[in-house]
Amino acid sequence: MRDAGVCKGVGIAVQGTQIVAVANDNELRQRYAGATEVDCQRGLLAPGFVDSHTHAVFGAPRYAEHELRATGVPYLEIARRGGGIHSSVRDLRGRSDDDLFSLAVPRLARLAAGGVTTVEIKSGYGLSVHDELRSLRVIKRLAEAGPLRVVPTCLAAHEIPLEYRERPGGRDAWIAAICEEVYPVVQREQLAVFADVFCEPGVFGVEESRQVLERGRAYGLRPKLHADELHDGGAAVLAAELGAVSADHLAAVSPAGIEALATSDTVATALPATMLFLGTGRQAPARALIDAGAALALASDLNPGTSPLQAFPLLLTLAVSELRMLAAEAWIAATVNGAAALGLANETGQLAVGYRADVAIHAVDDYRALPYWFGERLCCGSWSGGRACHVTP
Ligand SMILES: [Zn+2]
Repeated sequence: MRDAGVCKGVGIAVQGTQIVAVANDNELRQRYAGATEVDCQRGLLAPGFVDSHTHAVFGAPRYAEHELRATGVPYLEIARRGGGIHSSVRDLRGRSDDDLFSLAVPRLARLAAGGVTTVEIKSGYGLSVHDELRSLRVIKRLAEAGPLRVVPTCLAAHEIPLEYRERPGGRDAWIAAICEEVYPVVQREQLAVFADVFCEPGVFGVEESRQVLERGRAYGLRPKLHADELHDGGAAVLAAELGAVSADHLAAVSPAGIEALATSDTVATALPATMLFLGTGRQAPARALIDAGAALALASDLNPGTSPLQAFPLLLTLAVSELRMLAAEAWIAATVNGAAALGLANETGQLAVGYRADVAIHAVDDYRALPYWFGERLCCGSWSGGRACHVTP
């Protein structure tokens, strides 16, 4: 992760959706005479960022909660009062598909304006069989609309819906609904690649999470976990045990969890904007994870309650300043490892021949400048599969 492979005077040639050459400028001009040229203006040509964890399909923002936390009300208490996830659930259920689609489009455009070219989006604010499937169909529509590449995840196990929680046996009934009613349709309509679960004391326990994810796997959905965000509940260990593609959050991960991730292929995903926005003063132990040998990725966690971040490059600043990572490690985490966290390590996240032309140009003279000049808009163009997502006029 310390070697970002930075080169000078090098460009790429793109044909269709693929990178077909990486070479110095003169060589490229000779080999591809007559090709359309995009001048990087001596800026930084980089792989597009892979945002491997978002909840970008939602309705209203949650301004009140931000202030409630400022007055000292903790996250789980807000959820117990019917706020948090549940307020987004009530809101989503009252909106049309067109409305949800239209609200998500500008969010993805803002991610692209920061250099993101691949984005994972989870369901999880429907929390009924009908509304989870509806959310996933909206995500599918976003994927078909492009230009960003969208990777869909079924997070029906985001929470126990209030109407299930209030009746005896409700927990098991919702888990059964996910396994027996949501997943079969997800598979039939190809609505998701991954199944995710919020594995956290007070939400879904380790055994419940295992049950949900194993059932998801039977329907062709690879496991992902929201793991050990606020309290260690053994979720990272479970992620490694299940061979999950990623374990995300990890702010409260135990030494055993770090060890388990370091010795597995499961990508450890840090979501530093969430911890910043929650004002916890804590972050995932990124340094310990990397030093132990884990592959660490960075993602926005874009969601209305705990991380409304759409300016992706800020994550690189948080990685260096809060997670004590080197700039090269932050870049690898946001590209190569983000791709691995979506099972796309052989397709995107690198400027290499045979990879998708998922690229961005930043108006900086050094790769370390992006995390350094934080808060600036420095991305002047991004392309996903060779198709323009964002170009500054
Ligand atoms: Zn999340």
